[in-house]
Amino acid sequence: MNRNASLDQLRSEEFDICIIGAGASGAGCALDAALRGYKVAIIDRKDFASETSSRSTKLIHGGVRYLEQAFKKLDFAQLKQVRHGLEERHIVLKNAPHLARPLALMTPVGSWIEGLYFKIGLQLYDTFATNDSLPKSKWLTKKEVLDKIPTLNKKKLHSGVLYYDGQLDDARYCLALVQSAHEAGAVTANYLNVNGFVKDETGKLSGVRVQDAQTGNDFTIKTKLVINCTGPFADHVRLLANPALPERIRPSKGVHVVLPFETLNSEYAMLIPKTSDGRVVFAIPFEGAMMIGTTDTETDNLDTESTLNNTEKQYLVETLNPFLDKQIDITQLKAGFGGLRPLLSADPSKSTKSLVRDHEVEVDSVSGLVSLLGGKWTTYRLMAKDTIDQADSIFSKSNACTTADHMLAGGENYSPGLADHLTTQFALPTDIAKHLVKKYGSRATKIAELTTNNVSLKERLVSKLPYIQAEVIYTVRNEMVIKPRDFLARRIRLEITDWHETLNCLPIVANLMAAELGWNDTEKQQQIDEYALQLRQFIADAGA
Ligand SMILES: Cc1cc2nc3c(=O)[nH]c(=O)nc-3n(C[C@H](O)[C@H](O)[C@H](O)COP(=O)(O)OP(=O)(O)OC[C@H]3O[C@@H](n4cnc5c(N)ncnc54)[C@H](O)[C@@H]3O)c2cc1C
Repeated sequence: MNRNASLDQLRSEEFDICIIGAGASGAGCALDAALRGYKVAIIDRKDFASETSSRSTKLIHGGVRYLEQAFKKLDFAQLKQVRHGLEERHIVLKNAPHLARPLALMTPVGSWIEGLYFKIGLQLYDTFATNDSLPKSKWLTKKEVLDKIPTLNKKKLHSGVLYYDGQLDDARYCLALVQSAHEAGAVTANYLNVNGFVKDETGKLSGVRVQDAQTGNDFTIKTKLVINCTGPFADHVRLLANPALPERIRPSKGVHVVLPFETLNSEYAMLIPKTSDGRVVFAIPFEGAMMIGTTDTETDNLDTESTLNNTEKQYLVETLNPFLDKQIDITQLKAGFGGLRPLLSADPSKSTKSLVRDHEVEVDSVSGLVSLLGGKWTTYRLMAKDTIDQADSIFSKSNACTTADHMLAGGENYSPGLADHLTTQFALPTDIAKHLVKKYGSRATKIAELTTNNVSLKERLVSKLPYIQAEVIYTVRNEMVIKPRDFLARRIRLEITDWHETLNCLPIVANLMAAELGWNDTEKQQQIDEYALQLRQFIADAGA
């Protein structure tokens, strides 16, 4: 993906569909629409997946909690969500096996009654998952549980119920969708902020006004249809198109705290089934660390990045501690991140915790704007299908949706065995080879090839982690990395697992980027200073 080439096309060509927002919703729509033969543009005011879609719990799930609520409240909408989620889980895992995998989750219980309750519930969850081969849930003895998660509180533990869901690298999954859309013909660009629309004589949208955040230049993208996929920011774009529309989104903030992997010291995740505010909390291994989340707080602050506050950190640590033998404290925190759920509500009296994570495709009859509202990562493909079905009906077409069987970028010819090949052919250490294959799939070879003429590109960015210098070069050239944060937070996930190490390797990353992007010393220093300031703020706020 080349940003300059995309900008030339966006300025000069006319598109069938212009998609605003390149998170899970927008990227999913772009791929579906491009595969149906539409001429598609997809743009984002920041980097791909830089908002909610890189800040999720990273579970591909029907939602155990939603199932419980569905039965307790006889809520069929929740039940439908669970069923859709479990159907989609299989497809999400199948279409990008390098970026999504089955995850084993343990539910520790304190008595046999509790164990029976969760075993019945999770067995029910299994019966809704009819189309995949994930192992079924199992009630394990105390010893079996401790064999799998040795750090659990032995005194309180009675037994545990094990079940499976999917886990994905959310930012890279979104990028794979954008890349796949690009390869299917879509024109993609990040750092283009939509600040207005052009309308035809009937009042319908015919162009999208954007400002290039890199240069400050304004231009218009000509398009027949605009699809708004801006997640928690959707109301802003809806009102830009038609100020008479009522607001629909109830943004809700959720945060995660990241602790050392040794906190659970396990590849198994843990589900804490009951919290002080009646929710569930997950403790999940991710990229050599352990993240715990999440929270649910209604917010109207959409203008500043969601970061952790003291109450949230305390809540998550206090929720985890009773389950651990050795208590953790907030000073062990390595990183953390917050995001905004794009919850949809017709009823302002409902709390955000009780809102169903469902989606809706809205067509504004005045401006012609199509908005994809609400939803969750797990069902992004269904959400996109419903949206592009709607586009089909606007264009009086009936194209088939083919995304269920479309392998995403890096998933084609993927085999975990590729790591052995990289180790022998390019003399890469095993952990680096495995990391490259897990993140870039079959395209990992391209990164390894960069090291043949320049062995220094094999050097690690952080001494004990598998990230290497060649990745910076590859992602700048192929994945539209524009700023150091694009690379460190989303192409690799170092920022969300270790703030200090991110800060340490920032100068090396900026040096490599400067050489690729032609930055002079002043520009390079500005890039370093801007990001370092932000990271130091995160560290100071968290007391980490
Ligand atoms: C804490 C938390 C945990 C979650 N965990 C899970 C989970 O485990 N599993 C699951 O299935 N779901 C989960 N979700 C939900 C899921 O992450 C979201 O539903 C999904 O990522 C939303 O994607 P989106 O594309 O709609 O929004 P976003 O990812 O926010 O994308 C919207 C994009 O629009 C862009 N944009 C906004 N305004 C403009 C403009 N004017 N011009 C151009 N671009 C613009 C933004 O920059 C952004 O990139 C979680 C959500 C949160 C907050």
